[in-house]
Amino acid sequence: MKSPAHRTRDIERQAGYLRPEHCAPPPLRNTSDTMWFIRDGCGIVCGVITWFLVLYAEFVVVFVMLLPAKSVIYSLFNGVIFNGLGFLALASHAKAMCTDPGAVPKGNATKEFIESLKLKPGQVVYKCPKCCSIKPDRAHHCSVCKRCIKKMDHHCPWVNNCVGENNQKYFVLFTMYIALISFHSLILVALHFVFCFEEDWTKCSNFSPPATVILLILLCFEALLFLIFTAVMFGTQVHSICTDETGIEQLKKEERRWAKKSKWMNMTVVFGHPFSIAWLSPFATPDHGKADLYQYIV
Ligand SMILES: [Zn+2]
Ligand SMILES: [Zn+2]
Repeated sequence: MKSPAHRTRDIERQAGYLRPEHCAPPPLRNTSDTMWFIRDGCGIVCGVITWFLVLYAEFVVVFVMLLPAKSVIYSLFNGVIFNGLGFLALASHAKAMCTDPGAVPKGNATKEFIESLKLKPGQVVYKCPKCCSIKPDRAHHCSVCKRCIKKMDHHCPWVNNCVGENNQKYFVLFTMYIALISFHSLILVALHFVFCFEEDWTKCSNFSPPATVILLILLCFEALLFLIFTAVMFGTQVHSICTDETGIEQLKKEERRWAKKSKWMNMTVVFGHPFSIAWLSPFATPDHGKADLYQYIV
């Protein structure tokens, strides 16, 4: 039995269904110079919570553990690593949130546009009935973003954006840096408890012993929870990049219509070519210079 997704695709194969005259012409204003930001209440709240949690971890690590520590080298070494990774995590989050994930121009399913594609016999285009756009292959409609997104993996409320062709690198870096700061803070909490059991607790922290213990336990819970969550997410993302199959394609068990490439090639498509330190930087934009495929051969 065919899934609903397959049925939709079958309907869209019929040229008459396209009805381009029902689509409004694409908006005239140039959307490329405006910042991408999804106005979704739930996503904005989740995004703010993410920043708050990272800043809470920064506060506990710096003010409760590192500043009162006796060894300046220990504090400096761990402070630089933790704050550096924390900064990269927040920068990756901001980039993942404010980068267009690969939205297809809205309302481009016009008669003129379809004619300009110069379809040959046997070639068809898919139209999204929700945003009136011609969908490139592997694009999916997101009901939160209200747009069709190229190579959409999933909509992530934590970054208040879809994870798609253009921002997957930032999302992967975000999960990686959050996993790393979570792991680092767990080590620091463990070391702090070991050192402070031998010492007088009042000398170990600028806060009262009960406040210190509560702050550390809360950080422990937070770090453990997010270490598991982001490490699993990071692994899943790297796997889906290597196999060149998005989360949606895996869920829908879509048949493979695109060429199979090596794992390394698939990684360079997302992170940019050639391999360099820029892969780890949320400030380096990967080169996605590829032509869009609107046509399908049936
Ligand atoms: Zn759509
Ligand atoms: Zn979305």
